[in-house]
Amino acid sequence: MQDTKITIEDVLKNVRVDLDIKKEALIRNAYAVAENAHLGQKRKSGVDDYIQHPLHTALILAKIGLGSKTIAAGLLHDVPEDTTITLIELEQKFGKEISAMIDGVTKLGKIKLRGSKENIFLENLRKMFLAMASDIRVVLIKLADRLHNMETLSYLPPEKQQRIALETMEIFAPIANRLGIGEIKARLENLAFQYLEPENYAFTVKLLSDQYGQRKKNIDKIISEMKKELVKEGITVLDIFGRTKHLYSLFRKLKRHDMDIGKVYDLIGIRIIVPELSNCYETLGIVHKKYRPLVGRIKDYISLPKPNGYQSIHTTIFGPEEYFIEVQIRTKKMDDEAEFGIASHWIYSEKKRTLKNFFLKSKHNVPEEELKWVRQLREWQNDLGENDQEFIESLKIDFFKNHIFAFTPLGDIIDLPEDATPIDFAYRVHSEVGNRTTGAKANGKIVPLDYKIKNGEVIEITTARNHKNPSRDWLKFVRTSLAKSHIKKHLKKEGFL
Ligand code: MN
Repeated sequence: MQDTKITIEDVLKNVRVDLDIKKEALIRNAYAVAENAHLGQKRKSGVDDYIQHPLHTALILAKIGLGSKTIAAGLLHDVPEDTTITLIELEQKFGKEISAMIDGVTKLGKIKLRGSKENIFLENLRKMFLAMASDIRVVLIKLADRLHNMETLSYLPPEKQQRIALETMEIFAPIANRLGIGEIKARLENLAFQYLEPENYAFTVKLLSDQYGQRKKNIDKIISEMKKELVKEGITVLDIFGRTKHLYSLFRKLKRHDMDIGKVYDLIGIRIIVPELSNCYETLGIVHKKYRPLVGRIKDYISLPKPNGYQSIHTTIFGPEEYFIEVQIRTKKMDDEAEFGIASHWIYSEKKRTLKNFFLKSKHNVPEEELKWVRQLREWQNDLGENDQEFIESLKIDFFKNHIFAFTPLGDIIDLPEDATPIDFAYRVHSEVGNRTTGAKANGKIVPLDYKIKNGEVIEITTARNHKNPSRDWLKFVRTSLAKSHIKKHLKKEGFL
């Protein structure tokens, strides 16, 4: 896909929260700094100016309903990593809140999918991704960043395309789904699908366009009939439109049904948006009066929302010529929540919020909306298997307080308890690395072996090639039982214990 050239005015036009003069100035200011910092840099296409990438990232954030601070952070997200302007300078200019978001995005950028692709590993990687971002807005910026990178993936070498597409499919799309951002999840999946399974992708595109082409006239007719009927019955129809299932979810469903398109009942649907919750049920009644419903296909996700919070009524009707058509009925708010998930809460509430705030606020002044998200997070946590009990324990009020995550120079993630040292890190990497450790660097600086590693640091271990040297002193400061047992084992073997 060709990247469309946009300006800061396009971003501002698409902001969905109220912007006063101060907030608009913040966005313009962030843009000016980013533009200047990236001046002369090009995107991989060799044609587009680099600033187009942060602009597109900011545009996505604006469209899903985020506020001025997140949009500013989105504009600046690649500045510390790719330009001469430092995070400290950004903090001086834009304050701690925005610079902390940018820092979070930079750190999340270090998480890469490498090596093992087992399910447990992937699940840990997703958890870690969320864990590292104590501010949920950081995850949203990262998702917007990834979405634009996927949209311009064709400019990268094939090998990189495969790695990034796989990472998108396995890590980013599931996270967007968990956060209830259906719109971004669908776009990420469709883009990744295109690179990972080009033949199946082409097949599905053709199938969908053939089917839609055949039935479009029909659908348009039903939509206008249905609208007339609803208006006649006194329902205010805010919006009614035809929609097709998104490509990758269609393909997944086809695979489950022996590639038989006749078995996919929700290939093409009609969505009806009404003002009030009560209108949803009235609308369902009116639709069923006019069109015969398919038995067993009525789903009331309003009284029983999906685990990620999704609310809507679904029913499948027999259209003319015996085509099945899925009808989705919901309010505007439910629709925004389905498309934009956790992000939509910035539209529906003025207050800024972070995950930490959710947990720290006392129960009495937490509005119902917030409680819903907390419940969802808890439900998500409940999804974790029994083996994750220990992990859940660490979730508690302080959201991942007892865990830190450090990186190897290659970007692999090492999960450690708080106050862990380079020795703990070394043994986590490999017992032989631990046994041969002579020194350590954190983010490129030499640190003592009893140094307390901080979240997100890149730890480099220097080792002695020819001898092992675990020392009794190490036992005084190591935090993990893994390190302790290896050190003791070695000391015993050498006769020191
Ligand atoms: Mn970026």
